Amino acid sequence: MTTSPTLWSSLTEHWHLARTLRGLRIHFDQEGCTACGECFAVCPTGCWTLSTEGEIAIFVDRGCIACSACTLQCPEGVIELKSQK
Ligand code: SF4
Ligand code: SF4
Repeated sequence: MTTSPTLWSSLTEHWHLARTLRGLRIHFDQEGCTACGECFAVCPTGCWTLSTEGEIAIFVDRGCIACSACTLQCPEGVIELKSQK
């Protein structure tokens, strides 16, 4: 039996493809991170986590869709989306 993709999974696949085509990558300046957790709270694909000591955020690309939510939400302005092209 096949299952139909959900609207969310279809959109996520579309955004991920769009990000890839635009060559966008997260650039993160760890030096300025205060581990406030705002990026974890807003990322729809769970790309952010805390270090084991809890003192810094860590970016793990679990299908970033380049939505810019983390870049807009970070109070320290240490996250950027940049094109590699
Ligand atoms: S741009 Fe930021 S919030 Fe959006 S999916 Fe990528 S890591 Fe998550
Ligand atoms: S929102 Fe910015 S300062 Fe807060 S944990 Fe994420 S990267 Fe660090």
